[in-house]
Amino acid sequence: MINLLKKYRPTAHCALYHKNPVQLLVATILSAQCTDKRVNQVTKTLFKKYPSAAAFAKANLKELEKEIYSTGFFRSKAQNIKASCQKIQKDFKGQLPSSLEELLTLSGVGRKTANVILGTAFNISSGVVVDTHVKRLSNRLGFTHSKDPERIEKDLCNLLLKKDWIYFSHALILHGREVCKARVPRCSTCFLEELCPKKGVK
Ligand code: SF4
Repeated sequence: MINLLKKYRPTAHCALYHKNPVQLLVATILSAQCTDKRVNQVTKTLFKKYPSAAAFAKANLKELEKEIYSTGFFRSKAQNIKASCQKIQKDFKGQLPSSLEELLTLSGVGRKTANVILGTAFNISSGVVVDTHVKRLSNRLGFTHSKDPERIEKDLCNLLLKKDWIYFSHALILHGREVCKARVPRCSTCFLEELCPKKGVK
């Protein structure tokens, strides 16, 4: 399956617009319960006003809430962005840290966000990103029987070579968006169909 993904989705990559690791952190926080397309629309202007952790750390919370309103959960997202950037300024000299342990100390950063940042911004294979697409597809493809993201990540890490962890997350997310959709998977046009056990698909 990984060979087929590489054949048909050779350029799968992170779809969140960013120019530096801090911007990727902000975009990933905004992407919770929101599409990457919407996040990219918002960050296009947001990053002009706030180009760095220093700028986000000084942001007026009410203004920031308005600016990210359309991504949903805007109050908690604004708080997390400001608090994590304040910590980056205070404890990490304005630079996003590149270890899982340090990233997990930032507000609003869990394993999923940390894995996105490490894989995409630093090219470090720390784990597999388990978002809603990876969760759904991993079950349908028979890679896991769990609904728990941490368990799914362990199952995937055991199945995959470490060198494929970063690519696999991007490829599965893309495949979930375009073919193996939540409500109606397009099995008849799917290049994985011959190998897929289609668990839970009616
Ligand atoms: S065959 Fe169907 S269920 Fe399996 S990955 Fe493809 S679209 Fe998803």
